[in-house]
Amino acid sequence: MTAKADHILLLAGTSEARQLAGTLAETFPESRLTASFAGAVRDLPDLGVPTRVGGFGGTKGLLAFMRHEGITVIVDATHPFAAQMSRNAAEAAKMLKVPLVRLERPCWHPGEGDAWTNVLTMDDAAEALPDGARAFLAIGRKEIERFTPRSGIFGLVRMIEPPKTQLPSAWELILSRPPASADEEVSLFLEKNITHVVTKNSGGSRSYAKIEAARTLKLPVIMIARPELPEAETAPTNSALVDRLRQILARGS
Ligand code: NAP
Repeated sequence: MTAKADHILLLAGTSEARQLAGTLAETFPESRLTASFAGAVRDLPDLGVPTRVGGFGGTKGLLAFMRHEGITVIVDATHPFAAQMSRNAAEAAKMLKVPLVRLERPCWHPGEGDAWTNVLTMDDAAEALPDGARAFLAIGRKEIERFTPRSGIFGLVRMIEPPKTQLPSAWELILSRPPASADEEVSLFLEKNITHVVTKNSGGSRSYAKIEAARTLKLPVIMIARPELPEAETAPTNSALVDRLRQILARGS
């Protein structure tokens, strides 16, 4: 039986976190649940659970929040590239001796016929593009300036919120979330004469269509490896995470 005092902090910002919010509320009705967003996008989804928005103010701020709110468990369902938040959460959980489970969707791996160049950093990815490339850049808004100095390439940039830095005038910007179907990506890549796809190894199905489209069109993919995260207990899927949480809450740790 779940102890009444439990208060789960769900670090959100992914489609899995959106689903988890409802599942956690349903599965653990006796626990409090607070979802947290960075506030990076304007149109925040209504998760149907108590929600806070904005950074905590580093590990120190997170510790203060956790103490004030009596957080007893952290579920880190942030994006695999949201490394700072995951580091802060792991550190705070350790300091307060609070269990933490991180949702870690498996990485993507190349399939038959895929031509991937694996790189470690955004800078490496920018360098890996040959002059004359027409690159589809699905790498988010924070590090797009790693690519903009490459004068010899064209960039078709897709992100949810506009970039803070100006893009080269010849480049094109699409402000949207990724489409669900590979067919839409294939049409886009053909229409824009895309020669290379640059992406983070986010894993999961939500943004996999571009990888399928690259496979269909035999386009090379520059795949950026995930940042290293601190050691933590992980679960590969929402259901595995909920199972683990059930054990944690049952033992009241
Ligand atoms: P980040 O570099 O790890 O985090 C930067 C700062 O943003 C953190 O130090 C923290 O501020 C705040 N923050 C991040 N996630 C938060 C959350 N869930 N609740 C409250 N504060 C949060 O993260 P990011 O790469 O900027 O990503 C921001 C958000 O977008 C994350 O929630 C992530 O899940 C989502 N997202 C990221 C990507 C990506 O590729 N990076 C892709 C899709 C979605 P304080 O230090 O002040 O606490």
